[in-house]
Amino acid sequence: MKKYDVLVIGGDAAGMSAASQARRTSDALSIAVLEKGAHVSYAACGLPYYIADDVSNPESLIAIDLNEYIKERKIDILLNTEAIAADFVAHTVTIRFQGGVDTVEYGKLVIATGARPIVPPIRGIDAPNVFFLRNLADGMALRRHIDERMPSSGIIIGGGFIGLEMAEAFRKRSIETVILEKFDSVAMTMSPVIRSIILETLRVNDVRVITGAAISEILPTATGLSVTAGDNSYAADLVIASTGITPNTEFLNGTGIRMNDRGAIIVDEKSKTSVTDVFAAGDCATVKHQLTGKNAYMPLGTTANKQGRVAGLQAAGIADESFPGIVGTQMVKVFDLEVGKTGMNEADALRAGVPAESTSLLWRSRAGYYPAGSRISITLTMNPNTRELVGGEIAGTDGAALRINTVAAAIAAKMKVEQVAYLDLGYAPPFSPIWDPVNAAAQKMLRTL
Ligand SMILES: Cc1cc2nc3c(=O)[nH]c(=O)nc-3n(C[C@H](O)[C@H](O)[C@H](O)COP(=O)(O)OP(=O)(O)OC[C@H]3O[C@@H](n4cnc5c(N)ncnc54)[C@H](O)[C@@H]3O)c2cc1C
Repeated sequence: MKKYDVLVIGGDAAGMSAASQARRTSDALSIAVLEKGAHVSYAACGLPYYIADDVSNPESLIAIDLNEYIKERKIDILLNTEAIAADFVAHTVTIRFQGGVDTVEYGKLVIATGARPIVPPIRGIDAPNVFFLRNLADGMALRRHIDERMPSSGIIIGGGFIGLEMAEAFRKRSIETVILEKFDSVAMTMSPVIRSIILETLRVNDVRVITGAAISEILPTATGLSVTAGDNSYAADLVIASTGITPNTEFLNGTGIRMNDRGAIIVDEKSKTSVTDVFAAGDCATVKHQLTGKNAYMPLGTTANKQGRVAGLQAAGIADESFPGIVGTQMVKVFDLEVGKTGMNEADALRAGVPAESTSLLWRSRAGYYPAGSRISITLTMNPNTRELVGGEIAGTDGAALRINTVAAAIAAKMKVEQVAYLDLGYAPPFSPIWDPVNAAAQKMLRTL
């Protein structure tokens, strides 16, 4: 039986970070990555831009070439190889590949199996021309379909961030686009003020949004597909379903490893699981939320890379390395609109039992006299008991989204609103007004609360 000092399951963001960091720590370790699919180290986040043809070559979505891993980093990569069971007592993983089934022994194990799209319980969801988007193979299949068949109409099920990015991609490919969303708005993680800005952006870009759409059926027709929601039917040439994701952890059922109610492996700040010598990272794992101190499931590429790095270093014996957790920072581009969120908005705070008050402001992106500036909508949320910032949301153009990182840093540093109001942020007319939007919103918060 083959034995590796460090065995990684899953060859994308978290898994390849882990394997690379373990190698950087020591040349002596034997390291292998098991990957169920045919690619490693691909940028899933870039798929909407590949489908939109902003990125023309799928190869450019591969961060690091396979040969670099194998030859330079001396990591064994077993493609088309799926982990189907693990025995934490024997320190083994059972693998399935085209030629059969085998067992591999590990010294330390990193589980980085990510997540997959939830298949909504809709009759006909498995019909031809209904797509899901998760990995490079999915992206290449969808792009090929659009290039070859040139569909003129598309339905997107789900108005979350991926649905919004795909709406832009469809419009760039001249596809008439309808978003069917079961809730009463899109981007439900954002507060109502930002949602309405997103809805307006979709409207002016000719994306039709149907909210409250309870989809019951997708039927193939002579010309394409018909999607039934309530009493209405919507015709389209293709459908993409983006209704959330679920961790790939079923193969661990019965092993006793601790998971949360969504099936995400519970890890600590060192990416350690409840099982000795087993680490987990990325979309298959929980992450500590710094504001609540609790484990959260907030699967994002940035977290996968950080947790994967820590898992790899830990597996290689660097015991001090840890990732303190997230404050919940995320961004999305919807046509020209840039949207950012960090921490908790009022609804999140209510759910978490944290007292919260918010202030919203429309502010300039540049000095008023400098050409091509625009308006930025910014909302800050603070805990009135501590006066610490707990959240922020931004929407606008002209670099709006990146400004959320200032708020993220302030939240992580537990800054009070008074400190943020006078924070020394950079100014030059082409980049910012004298009072940066984050300063200005904190000033307004001081005045109004
Ligand atoms: C369209 C899209 C856009 C996104 N945009 C953003 C963004 O803008 N910003 C952001 O932060 N995040 C974004 N994300 C999320 C980001 O891509 C993920 O958080 C990130 O890919 C997670 O990395 P991971 O390594 O944990 O999991 P994955 O990327 O899911 O990789 C897991 C790998 O494990 C393999 N695997 C699964 N089970 C097994 C098994 N049993 N045996 C062997 N191999 C297995 C899978 O084939 C897969 O390659 C986006 C995701 C998508 C799909």
